[in-house]
Amino acid sequence: MSVLHVVSVSGGKDSDATLFLALNRYPKSRVIPCFADTGNEHDAVYEHLDYLEAALDIKIVRLKANFERQIARKRLFIARDQRTGRDDRGRKLRWSNKSKRRALEALHPTGNPYLDLCMWKGRFPSRKAQFCTQELKRDLLVNFQMDLVDAGHRVVSWQGVRRDESLNRRNAKLFERLNPRLYAYRPLVDWTAQQVFDYLRERRLIPNTLYKQGMSRVGCMPCINANKNEIAQIAARFPGHIQRIAEWERLVCAVSKRGFATFFNKELHTDKGNDQHVHATNCIESVVDYARTTRGGKQYGLFESHIDVSECASAYGLCE
Ligand code: SF4
Repeated sequence: MSVLHVVSVSGGKDSDATLFLALNRYPKSRVIPCFADTGNEHDAVYEHLDYLEAALDIKIVRLKANFERQIARKRLFIARDQRTGRDDRGRKLRWSNKSKRRALEALHPTGNPYLDLCMWKGRFPSRKAQFCTQELKRDLLVNFQMDLVDAGHRVVSWQGVRRDESLNRRNAKLFERLNPRLYAYRPLVDWTAQQVFDYLRERRLIPNTLYKQGMSRVGCMPCINANKNEIAQIAARFPGHIQRIAEWERLVCAVSKRGFATFFNKELHTDKGNDQHVHATNCIESVVDYARTTRGGKQYGLFESHIDVSECASAYGLCE
């Protein structure tokens, strides 16, 4: 029985350093770098994966979720829906004929995991219902590792997690036994972000270029948890991503029962009972407008609305 080291690669600095540590410690034949493609990535992520493959002479396994089956089942469900009754706000529970027609026309797999997931669910993920991480990343990686376990290997899952990254991660363990033949190893738990950059620099590995373009982390572009400044940076530097989200909102609205769905859930509204109002204040265009303002959203910022896209805006001072 061999021990395999599966490294979760995201295109960010922490997973770069983790991968480098694994390759330094074990032969390449026992290290399997894995990337879960959400379909909501910046091109710089794919370019960085190509760069890693060339620089380290490795092959990164690229995983991608597929929701064709779930979408086919949902189409059947909508077409046959006959439920009666009302929800706690007195709204009809069943799909109206109009909403059925609208949804069935739009609800087809696109091949983009993020969009297909949201169309299947009829909504976007939110901080309280962060199903994107589970469906697009965690499940894929766990299934991949369990297949190796079932094939008779012991598997060590290398994860580039740092305790100072967020409150959720403050208790992350260095080593953990997840099941009799699957272990988690997090070699960076006590590192700071700056230590990671220093480590990469010393080994002449170039971090993802997104760090020089205002992004403090590499992940979905945008992430549902992006803060005001990140949204303003994305809108200024990568407007195509904002347009794509606007198109996704149109499609997910079309397949949702009430006809409303927004990518961000920023609570920019007070009237939660009025879907139309909530949608108008939370849709991507409104959130971008809000992100360009200062002082609680009341005043347009002199800096945020005039971001110089040619300048390095790295939150880590990479150009210092
Ligand atoms: S990066 Fe954000 S949007 Fe993407 S899967 Fe993670 S939580 Fe969801």
